[in-house]
Amino acid sequence: MRIGILALQGAVREHRTMLNRLGAETVDVLYTTDLVGLDGLVLPGGESTTTGKLLERNNLLEPVAELGRNGLPIFGTCTGLILLSKHIIGSDQQRLGLMDTYVERNAYGRQLASFEAGMPIPVLGEQPFPCVFIRAPYIEKAEADVQPLLSYDNKILFAEQDNLLAAAFHPELTDDPRVHHYFLQKVIRRNRS
Ligand code: GLN
Repeated sequence: MRIGILALQGAVREHRTMLNRLGAETVDVLYTTDLVGLDGLVLPGGESTTTGKLLERNNLLEPVAELGRNGLPIFGTCTGLILLSKHIIGSDQQRLGLMDTYVERNAYGRQLASFEAGMPIPVLGEQPFPCVFIRAPYIEKAEADVQPLLSYDNKILFAEQDNLLAAAFHPELTDDPRVHHYFLQKVIRRNRS
């Protein structure tokens, strides 16, 4: 299983460590040639306007969006969740625009720039997941084809839509591999079908 990690900025190494630990081969994605032969793609956290610009500069924006539309499993964390969204409230920044979600950036304000909370995520089992939020966005609302996997205070923090998975938090910064495992299961299911 060959998983690309968008390596333009952000927490690339932590995603790599987690995916390698789960037995996946990883490839840093910087250019379109890196997209060949991928079974899945991870979009790490960072800063979404910058990542959007770099995606465009490296001619990756449309090719990645096309792969997503054709069913490639893509998992976005934080900035990745923002880039996956069709709608970014109050912003016309570049995006992949694949998920039917409305995203609010930096949604928790400055005071709560960064925090950690154990949250129950039913698809991952009974044990709460240690969710790390860093200047986190949330999904304000979503169309019916989006499946919320974790909501808090009426906002969606983890969701999927077919081949796409998006988390407002950073599972790569924890020791808990369950979210990455969940993504790899999506990849395996697609390879089988
Ligand atoms: N606030 C950042 C943005 O708008 C996202 C933060 C993150 O990825 N940790 O892109």
